[in-house]
Amino acid sequence: MIRKREPHNAKIGLMGGTFDPIHYGHLVSAEVARQQFALDRVIFVPAGVPPHKQEGKVTAARHRYLMTVMAVMSNPYFYVSSYEVDKKEPSYTIDTVRHFAQKAGGAGLYFITGADAIMDLLTWKDYEALLEACTFIAVSRPGYSLERLREILGRRCPQYLDKVHMLEIPALAISSTFIRERAALGKTIRYLTPDPVERYIKKEGLYLNRL
Ligand code: NAP
Repeated sequence: MIRKREPHNAKIGLMGGTFDPIHYGHLVSAEVARQQFALDRVIFVPAGVPPHKQEGKVTAARHRYLMTVMAVMSNPYFYVSSYEVDKKEPSYTIDTVRHFAQKAGGAGLYFITGADAIMDLLTWKDYEALLEACTFIAVSRPGYSLERLREILGRRCPQYLDKVHMLEIPALAISSTFIRERAALGKTIRYLTPDPVERYIKKEGLYLNRL
């Protein structure tokens, strides 16, 4: 997924998320970001133990990783990395970005994730180094505003203002929480996530009775 010799002007998207489960909102977001920012490819990086979440409340990493692989299979520009799920310790985005930066030589890195997550960016580990190392694409549901983050960034580190971009995606009205709640009650989740993912959730009984 990272070529041996990435061209110097290559642009690679890193799609970070818990993906519990992955859904069409995530897939549309990655595809729109790919086109809008002229990315050569997008690597989905399911979070191992998300640093800000308690272990045990999140579905086992192997399930989230497998569902992500199933979901991206048909898109030639999409890949999945097991880098974070293979780690035992919490996965901080700075470590992930450094890992890919080292492999990708001079390629530009774009970290794509939910706008709500990015709102807390200034509390993330080594956030200045992170803003130095990659550009952020904050994906939002309609009506969400990143103004507050831009205000704080403008005050605390104005030099990084142009490193955070906003992308509004109507399909992101779908959320993982919505899918989990429906699956817990045995309600249909068809057309919210690709068929293989829907079948996998059913087969493994992933969210049943987990309200
Ligand atoms: P989250 O708090 O579970 O999600 C926040 C919101 O963003 C939710 O509405 C979520 O919707 C949405 N979202 C999450 N990932 C998305 C994506 N790739 N595309 C579009 N929407 C997305 O966030 P999270 O998934 O745990 O964290 C997001 C990323 O930020 C992860 O890669 C995580 O490791 C990183 N992060 C790093 C640090 C750190 O380094 N200190 C701290 C926090 C987060 P859905 O529930 O529908 O996905």
